[in-house]
Amino acid sequence: MQANASPSAWPAAVLFDRDGTIVVDVPYNGDPSLVEPVAGAAAALQRVRDAGLAVGIVTNQSGIARGLVSAEQVAAVNAEVERRLGPIDVWRLCPHAPGDGCPCRKPAPGMVLDAARSLGVPPARVVLIGDIGADVEAARAAGATGILVPTSVTRPEEIAAAQLVAGDLAEAVDLALTALDDRVPA
Ligand SMILES: [Mg+2]
Ligand SMILES: [Zn+2]
Repeated sequence: MQANASPSAWPAAVLFDRDGTIVVDVPYNGDPSLVEPVAGAAAALQRVRDAGLAVGIVTNQSGIARGLVSAEQVAAVNAEVERRLGPIDVWRLCPHAPGDGCPCRKPAPGMVLDAARSLGVPPARVVLIGDIGADVEAARAAGATGILVPTSVTRPEEIAAAQLVAGDLAEAVDLALTALDDRVPA
């Protein structure tokens, strides 16, 4: 659909936050049966694949560090996300707590940089779609582009600070695939 086949075309990958972005946020969820995709999520991810771009998920899961959920439970939830929403090219998960000082918990850029490296694409050709300020801050810190899709929990100052804001996932993917398409980096 989109002329993204050229190696210089922009972007090359779209990363998504998990909770509150592509699945309904169930805090510290360890139960695959509670996975509920956000309306339009499966179609949005498929449009990214159909455009020839990689799809990834970068997710903070501090419930692991807090002892509220096991790594195995989170893995089972992630498997269910993939079963419901289709294949994901790259997953990056931060199991740490906010005070741990790790390089991966958003808004730190670690997961975005690591996902880009894993996909073999420069961070400048990565878009990250998420629902809170930490998502778009992580994108910015990595040299990627963040698109905010606010929900009822998104704070007004996070919306005001975002580079790009979309009304829903479909609009965010529109932005990623078309509106930004001419921003080919030098
Ligand atoms: Mg979220
Ligand atoms: Zn971490």
